[in-house]
Amino acid sequence: MENCVFCKIVKGELPSKVELEDDDLMVFRNINPIAPVHVLIVPKKHISNLSEISEKDKNILGKMLFAARKTAENLGILGAFRVAVANGENAGQTVFHLHFHLTGGWKEKYNRDEDKA
Ligand code: AMP
Ligand code: ZN
Repeated sequence: MENCVFCKIVKGELPSKVELEDDDLMVFRNINPIAPVHVLIVPKKHISNLSEISEKDKNILGKMLFAARKTAENLGILGAFRVAVANGENAGQTVFHLHFHLTGGWKEKYNRDEDKA
């Protein structure tokens, strides 16, 4: 997809700090983290958001959640993490290439009011 920031990251045309990668997805650090650990889980295939997925995309959604779990373990936050997804502009989506936010690493109990993801 032309001019899509995450497609450019997937193709290596923009830099990113990769935490996990396989044939179907990439996990990289958020450039503007809102938590001590904040990565994005991104399918390599361009899908705008959850509204646009179809039956054939069911597998990648499962893989994305499993990648969240695996990355949480790799980054030492398996005991306490959050997975969030913004769907649509009015829900706060700013990059229109599907992504899950994985956040964690808080030193104290999570305060819901501070959640901006
Ligand atoms: P959302 O607002 O839910 O669509 O999330 C988009 C996220 O992408 C934001 O948290 C941005 O900080 C993040 N982001 C935008 N550009 C980049 C980039 N080049 N590398 C890493 N993260 C990015
Ligand atoms: Zn894209």
